[in-house]
Order: sequence, then C-alpha cells, then structure tokens
Amino acid sequence: MTGSIRNVAVVGGGFSGAMLAARLAEADVGSILINRTADFGLGVAYSTPFEGHLLNVRSSRMSALADQPDHFVRWLEANAPELADPEGFAPRKVFGRYVQWRLAGAEAAHRGLIRRVVGEVVGVDADGVALSDGRKITADAVVLTTGNPAPKTASGGSARVLADPWAPGALEQVGADDDVLIVGTGLTMVDMLQALDGQGWRGRAQALSRRGLLPRAHGERHDPPETPTPAMLEGRLSERTKAARAVARQAGWREMMEGLRPVTADLWAKADLPTRRAIVRHLRPWWDVHRHRIAPRIGVFIDRLLFEGRLSVVAGRVRGIEVDDAGVRLDWTRRGQAQPPLTGAWLIDCTGPGHAPEADPVTGPLLASGRARLDSLRLGLELDGSGRVLHADGKADLSLFVLGPPARAAFWETIAVPDVRKRIEDVVKAISGRRPRAG
Ligand SMILES: Cc1cc2nc3c(=O)[nH]c(=O)nc-3n(C[C@H](O)[C@H](O)[C@H](O)COP(=O)(O)OP(=O)(O)OC[C@H]3O[C@@H](n4cnc5c(N)ncnc54)[C@H](O)[C@@H]3O)c2cc1C
Repeated sequence: MTGSIRNVAVVGGGFSGAMLAARLAEADVGSILINRTADFGLGVAYSTPFEGHLLNVRSSRMSALADQPDHFVRWLEANAPELADPEGFAPRKVFGRYVQWRLAGAEAAHRGLIRRVVGEVVGVDADGVALSDGRKITADAVVLTTGNPAPKTASGGSARVLADPWAPGALEQVGADDDVLIVGTGLTMVDMLQALDGQGWRGRAQALSRRGLLPRAHGERHDPPETPTPAMLEGRLSERTKAARAVARQAGWREMMEGLRPVTADLWAKADLPTRRAIVRHLRPWWDVHRHRIAPRIGVFIDRLLFEGRLSVVAGRVRGIEVDDAGVRLDWTRRGQAQPPLTGAWLIDCTGPGHAPEADPVTGPLLASGRARLDSLRLGLELDGSGRVLHADGKADLSLFVLGPPARAAFWETIAVPDVRKRIEDVVKAISGRRPRAG
C-alpha cells in the first residue's frame, strides 16, 4: 500500500494531528483532520487561556519542524518579539497560536489537501473511520493522534472531587480561602496550583503521591548534553542508573538527562522485557520528574508555596475518600500504615491520564479483532519503528498508524514536541514514501 496512500484520516487535531496534516500536505498527500472541537492545533496543552501556564521546553527546542530548529523562535520574533528569547519559556497559549498559524499556512499553500472535520471518531475499519453522529469518512489510511486519554475519576461523581481539572471552569468553584487536597504531584498539580493562584486563591494545598516527588526545574540557561558513558547504556538497569548518578554528580543531573535524550528511543527499543518492566515500575517516577522539567519561574513559584507552608507533599497511597457537605476527607497509608487523614474543601485529581485501551471505543475493537495488540506491559498498542500498528500475529498494518503520546509502547518518550516532530517525519515518509518538501 505504501506509495498509493492519497488520503489519510487523522484522528485527533491537537499538535500531533495538525502538524502531521501540514507535513502530509507538503508531501502532496491529502488528509481529513478530525477533532472533537473546532480549536484545531491546541489539544489540552495549548488551549489553556492562562498566560502563566508556560511551556516546559525552551523556545529554541519547540519548533514544529524537525529540519528547522529555529522555526518557532523566528515566528516569535515576527509575532511576539518580547518573547523571542530562544532560551526562554513562552506561554503555552502563544505556542498554540503558532501551531494554528502553521496549520493555516499549510492549508493555504496546499489548497484542498487538508479538510477539517469536527466530530468524535468512534470506530476505525478497513475503509476509514466512523463518527458518533453516523458520518463515515473514507480514507486509504488512518493515523491515531488522539493524545492522552482523560484522567480516571478518583471518586465517583461528587461535586467536591474535581475529577477532570482540565475541564473548562473546573477550578472556579474553589473559593479564595479554601484548602484543597491534591492526588498526584506532577505537572498537572503544578498547572492547577498556578491556575488557582491566578484566580486569587490564598488557601493551603496538601498533596499526596506514591513517592511524593515534585517536578524539578530547568536551569536558568541551556544545559549542554553530557555524552552518556558506555556503562549507562548497557547491562543491568541498576548498574546503569548507578553509572548515570556518577555522571550526574560530576557533570550535573540536567546535563546527564540532556545527554540521554537522543538515545532514549533507541535504548527503549533495545531493552528486553524485564528491563522495560523495571523501568516502568521503579525508574519512571524519577525519570519523569527529572526529564519533564518546569520553567525556572514556575519552580520558584512552587518553592514559595512550600516555603510559606501553603503546599505540603506526602508520599503514600490513597485508602479511601469520604465526601460530605463540609468537604473531603482523604484516608491514606504510608508503607502500609494508616496515617492521620487529610482534610480539605475540595479534592483535585492530578493523577494524569487514565489508560484503558481495551475499553476505548477506537482501540478496543481493533484489539478485539486482532488488527492491533497491546505490548506486554500494557502501555499501549504495539507498533513498528515507523509507527505502524502491529496485528495480533505481529504483521505491520500498512494503513494504520499511531503518533504522539499513545505511541509510548514503541518509543517511550513520545510526548513532547521535540520527540513528536521527529515521529511525524517517520510517519509521513512511511505514508508517502518520501520526505516532504520544506515547510
Ligand atoms: C498540560 C500540558 C502541558 C504540556 N506542555 C508541553 C510543553 O511545554 N512542551 C512540550 O513539548 N510538550 C508539552 N506537553 C506535551 C504534549 O502532550 C504535546 O506537546 C502535544 O500537545 C501532544 O499533542 P497531541 O496532539 O498528541 O495530543 P493532544 O494535545 O491531547 O490532542 C489530541 C486531540 O485529539 C482529540 N481526540 C481524542 N480522541 C478523539 C476522538 N475519538 N475523536 C476526535 N478527536 C479526538 C482530542 O480532543 C485532542 O484535541 C504538555 C502536555 C500537557 C498535558
């Protein structure tokens, strides 16, 4: 089928879907870009209206185009010159404007090659995709760019539990002096605290996660990558992390992490199952807080909350949540021992995306029919190196691809823009048989 795909259904119109459609157009391949809402190009990350929500990657690395690293900075120079510092962290909403500009530019330059459709895809078959309103879209190939699934609900249906804090207006119910409980201490928690601060909140937050780890901050300036030593790249995981800690002590932990970036996908691809399992079980929380860092200014904000005693963080597990008119009581344990309960007016679920590929209307039937299979650790659909879905028998599907966060089983780090834009090139090449012309 490679070479004969003229028309691609792209399911999900966030950064991944929108930028894929643009690249496909530049390779003379048509696409139907389907998104739940009309704000194409934004997704959860870039649809925040809040100016204080900054990118967590420096502008110099946020180009949408793999072969033009300064593309975003040049756009900033022309459109928001006050933000055009390559080492800076621009507001996420400004990046959203850039993505939308790039999509509109590709549409204008390649008229008729990108068609936008607002709708919910509920099924994929051999001829294309089905929408929830009964429409059917035929296509030669389908690319799933559906992003991360919505969070799992921490406690069924109580108004005092903000189960999807991303939902528009979710935090508006929190009063200026209300104390909040937070489950999950990663980037979502940081976003929510900033949004609360932006609406004048003065209360206290008590946060709990399994290890109680907080995201680390970027340094003030770019951290030059430290080339990984051979001991970091081979052997048992425990030995490799020991070697990595030694490099971090000498060269700096940020430099050590930067050095791992270019080889991460390769290391994951080569890792055997026990190593992958150990990474997921033991290394992941540490990896995430060091790899997905927050802008320095946001690090200062979190430190201030901690210093003022307005944010406290504990490591433990949720045992139960009780809700009444007065508020929420969270029972928790540390190393199996019950701890004094935490109480607050609201509970904000910041545990991040919930993954249930078998229950998902799009991927569930693909798994049930054997057109797709899960990886052994159930991180997601198994894919080949170009992002093609593997059938139950291990054969690659020539017309079904996954791109962006749902491709984690194959590439591990496939969330941030610098990783996704590389994958976009691979998918375009696999579909069109060639690299697209420069954007
Ligand atoms: C809060 C936050 C901040 C981030 N900040 C950064 C950052 O600063 N820098 C960086 O590099 N990365 C950042 N990321 C990582 C981010 O995941 C990527 O940059 C990028 O936004 C991923 O885009 P995506 O299109 O793959 O997924 P998403 O942005 O999630 O988009 C998926 C889209 O598909 C739609 N969709 C899903 N299912 C269906 C369906 N069945 N039918 C129709 N439409 C569907 C969704 O509604 C959504 O619009 C951030 C992520 C988050 C959540």
